Amino acid sequence: MDYSKRRPRCYADFHSLVRRAGLQGIVEKCRAHIEQALKLPITLPEGLSAHELTERDIIMLKGYSVHGEYSLEDNALYFTRGQWCRPTLVHEVLHAASYFARNEYADISGGIMTLIESLTEFLTGYVLYREHPVCFQNWVHKRYRICSASLLPIYERGVRALAVLCRHASIQEVAALYLWRSEKNWLEAYKEFIARHGLRDFIKECLRRRISAVAALVDALTEAYGEEAAELIYEAPFEITLDFAKMET
Ligand SMILES: [Zn+2]
Repeated sequence: MDYSKRRPRCYADFHSLVRRAGLQGIVEKCRAHIEQALKLPITLPEGLSAHELTERDIIMLKGYSVHGEYSLEDNALYFTRGQWCRPTLVHEVLHAASYFARNEYADISGGIMTLIESLTEFLTGYVLYREHPVCFQNWVHKRYRICSASLLPIYERGVRALAVLCRHASIQEVAALYLWRSEKNWLEAYKEFIARHGLRDFIKECLRRRISAVAALVDALTEAYGEEAAELIYEAPFEITLDFAKMET
């Protein structure tokens, strides 16, 4: 059977949970799971709504097919009927909880989109690892298309780069750079972070050289950590690089 259409056994269980809890209910449960995994407060935008749309409607809305989507303009989460499962839910709820779901950061987020997607998927993997081990195994071994929200090659490189970063900085520190807090300006938090870890300002590099933020991060990491970083990013099997037990928490 076509890889994109195969479903894991837990797919039906997850969707019966969705039917019982309702979309809004499942989003709240997911928020609580993320909070538990990352041990940081998760604040969703006020008035956030959740909707399940047909694939046709999603294509009309986005211009292409996706499993799910967080829309800043609509302050809404969209899920594509028959195409989403827990990893999509975690990924999209993370988007909604991030700095980049806030209007004041819209300017920055355009230029570093690849990094934001990679960070979202990396943290999704970690939440699955902590809270939903079966989903995690399917995610890390890429057994089913539906068990990863976005693993396009450029995002996968970013996910791997973040796994390298979290062998030096902690996952919680990196998550704190992603999850919105009213009292902390993102740019300030980022500057403190790179100074603390002796990393080159890769966001500045990305904007100056007009390269993707993931490419700039990979350069900064290989400069700071050498061969080890290059091997984990380019050569090691995904499940080796994404071994969360080897990372700082
Ligand atoms: Zn995304």
